[in-house]
Amino acid sequence: MTTTEVENFPGFPEGITGPDLMDRMRKQAERWGAELHQEDVEFIDLKNRPFTVKSSERKVNCHSIIYATGATARRLGLPREEEFWCRGISACAICDGASPLFKGQVLAVVGGGDTATEEALYLTKYARHVHLLVRKDHLRASKAMQDRVLNNPNVTVHFNTEALDVVSNNKGQMSGILVRKIDTSEESVLEVKGLFYGIGHSPNSQLLEGQVDLDSTGYVLVQEGSAKTSVEGLFAAGDVQDHEWRQAVTAAGSGCIAALSPVTEEVKKEFTDRDVQEGFDMTITKHKGQYALRKLYHESPRLVCVLYTSPTCGPCRTLKPILSKVIDEFNQHVHLVEIDIEEDPEIAEAAGIMGTPCVQFFKDKEMIRTVSGVKMKKEYREFIEANK
Ligand code: NDP
Repeated sequence: MTTTEVENFPGFPEGITGPDLMDRMRKQAERWGAELHQEDVEFIDLKNRPFTVKSSERKVNCHSIIYATGATARRLGLPREEEFWCRGISACAICDGASPLFKGQVLAVVGGGDTATEEALYLTKYARHVHLLVRKDHLRASKAMQDRVLNNPNVTVHFNTEALDVVSNNKGQMSGILVRKIDTSEESVLEVKGLFYGIGHSPNSQLLEGQVDLDSTGYVLVQEGSAKTSVEGLFAAGDVQDHEWRQAVTAAGSGCIAALSPVTEEVKKEFTDRDVQEGFDMTITKHKGQYALRKLYHESPRLVCVLYTSPTCGPCRTLKPILSKVIDEFNQHVHLVEIDIEEDPEIAEAAGIMGTPCVQFFKDKEMIRTVSGVKMKKEYREFIEANK
């Protein structure tokens, strides 16, 4: 989130900066065992099961994905845009309008659609006056919104007008914008302290193109009131599927719906031996399921760590990130495979698993240790160090 101040997220009466809000969300997710990898995803394959997500650092197979890549506000590309971005230029009136920088000032909004008109009207709550700059001789917004801006004494609509650049005062602050009348080519400076873009957003759905239903402008289509997309197991949340509300709190809400959406039994079943077989890659350290276990047991030259879990087991959720982090420390010397004892009951029975979580270590086809329950990180680390 690149927004500077977030004034409308519940629970923060004084507001919070976008990066601070992100930090808090990150810590909260980690406290509950989420592993965060900060890297670029380059490719997603939804056509084969399990799905494949490939980043610059790793390849992950999974049977469910929550896609929440957001939307990028379109920019005008003014010569001094970078210099004044978040210091006078903003792409979100609702996020930034209440900032002290803009309170009681004269402001401008560019665009003629519903976003721009809505932003102009919203900004009248804080600004002394708002200028709406429209490049055509008419507004594209709905009739109701047109009536509202045209009849609001605090909004002046400038038709056939384009912004050319930002003008600053001798303190380096924005003091106005250079505008040009398109029909007469006449240029002038409009004195404003803030410039808001309302010229549309581009959803970041490129990774899904051709694989899932998108609307004509590229937003991921979800079933009403849910996060389900046209592909079973793929959920979409946040601005990439929402061109209307686009707030941090609505994005968080849709993320919650996506996270709580059940994956049907059908999809779970698709994560079978056959599918895992197709996606199996010995060079990857972490695996799931009985096919991977068999393969690693017979062929892995590394120490093989098998983690037995069950879906309802709380301590399993505690242990997973702990073990995963230890495994990361010994990346090339160990393989981890997770066996869900509900999905693979026969494997659990053969291994004599009486409860979860349980960890077994194998080397050269021999079981060398069983560790039941959740232990300190140190204990797993020392054992791997001694036996890798
Ligand atoms: P739109 O694409 O509808 O409008 C974009 C506006 O920006 C147009 O007026 C366009 O001008 C103008 N524009 C684009 N590029 C430039 C440029 N380089 N310089 C100057 N002006 C430019 O986007 P919106 O975000 O307004 O709306 C997207 C969708 O979301 C719409 O379907 C809208 O109805 C919906 N929406 C609904 C809301 C609601 O119901 N409350 C609120 C907000 C959006 P031109 O007309 O000349 O092409």
